[in-house]
Amino acid sequence: MAQGNAMTSEPSTPDDALARRAQDLETLRQAEEETAFAGDQREVTGEPSTVSQHPADTADFMYQRELQQTTQNLLEREQAQVEVALRARERGTYGKCQDCGQAIPAERLAARPEATLCVDCQRRSEGAH
Ligand SMILES: [Zn+2]
Repeated sequence: MAQGNAMTSEPSTPDDALARRAQDLETLRQAEEETAFAGDQREVTGEPSTVSQHPADTADFMYQRELQQTTQNLLEREQAQVEVALRARERGTYGKCQDCGQAIPAERLAARPEATLCVDCQRRSEGAH
């Protein structure tokens, strides 16, 4: 469910679900980084015009930062997973569960092109940590 409103209208978008996924994630991560950086700058310079003394605004700012951190962590994890899937494809094992070797259903790959585990093994690996 980490879809959001990804920007998919770029003309250079590759016609490949996995590569497209990697590109989308990179775009999202860069956008997030820029926002986070803008936030840091504002905090350091402490411009009175942008930093209000209002407690509600401060809470909102903190919340935004937390949200950004969470989003970035999530995107990094997704990117790492896409990397794994790309490597699996290079080895010719993409579409097969890396754990039990069963074919991953097409509908699962359509929803999550970066999936390298079948639903059962995914669930098991998530339960393991
Ligand atoms: Zn499996």
